[in-house]
Amino acid sequence: MSGEGEVPQAIRKLQPGRLVIASHNEGKVREIEALLAPYGIETVSAAALDLPEPEETGTTFVMNAELKARVAADLSGLPALSDDSGLCVEALGGEPGIFSARWGTADPGVAGLAAVSDLQGRDFGVAMRRVQEKLDALPEGASRDAHFVCALALAWPDGHVEWFEGRVDGTLTWPPRGDGGHGYDPMFVPDGHEQTFGELADDVKNAISHRADAFRQLVAAVF
Ligand code: IMP
Repeated sequence: MSGEGEVPQAIRKLQPGRLVIASHNEGKVREIEALLAPYGIETVSAAALDLPEPEETGTTFVMNAELKARVAADLSGLPALSDDSGLCVEALGGEPGIFSARWGTADPGVAGLAAVSDLQGRDFGVAMRRVQEKLDALPEGASRDAHFVCALALAWPDGHVEWFEGRVDGTLTWPPRGDGGHGYDPMFVPDGHEQTFGELADDVKNAISHRADAFRQLVAAVF
């Protein structure tokens, strides 16, 4: 796969050396490091290099992933890997989708769940409550099907980009359960399981998640 708008060309291999993880989301950085660990890649996070977090102006997961990876590769002079991901709820027409992180922006009008704030001040108790309130407003029996999407973009300082997209399907439960994982994990029950991503062990989530799916494609292509 190549960057959007490019003529398809041979997939570029990642050579040994340092790789920037172009994310400021600690939960994602941890997961990506765990997924890369078996391949002996030395990683450094965008936060450790003090790289700015670009505004996500794309209209798709792939566009946003590419934008973040390109900025990190340009500024660091190293290959950079970024992840743009989110939760898509079928009955909400795919919302929150690419706005998943933004739904966690604190809103004093939404009371309730214990705050699970990340370092950017996003509160996924608020975000999960928003999803639940929107589902509550639908006619009874509305589908609770949802899926997570993960787009990975690997950019080199010379502008070359490869991208991969993964997905995991499941259903949404309420109230949220489990304090593992991050983001919307406590309300997402992956197909074939009874526990939420917040309850399942990290290695179980890392074997079946949208990110794992995208990583399998990346590893097969560039390593
Ligand atoms: P972004 O890719 O940084 O724009 O943010 C993606 C947002 O989607 C995260 O902040 C989470 O809210 C949500 N998200 C993505 N992947 C996961 C996951 O594996 N579990 C739970 N929430 C996720």
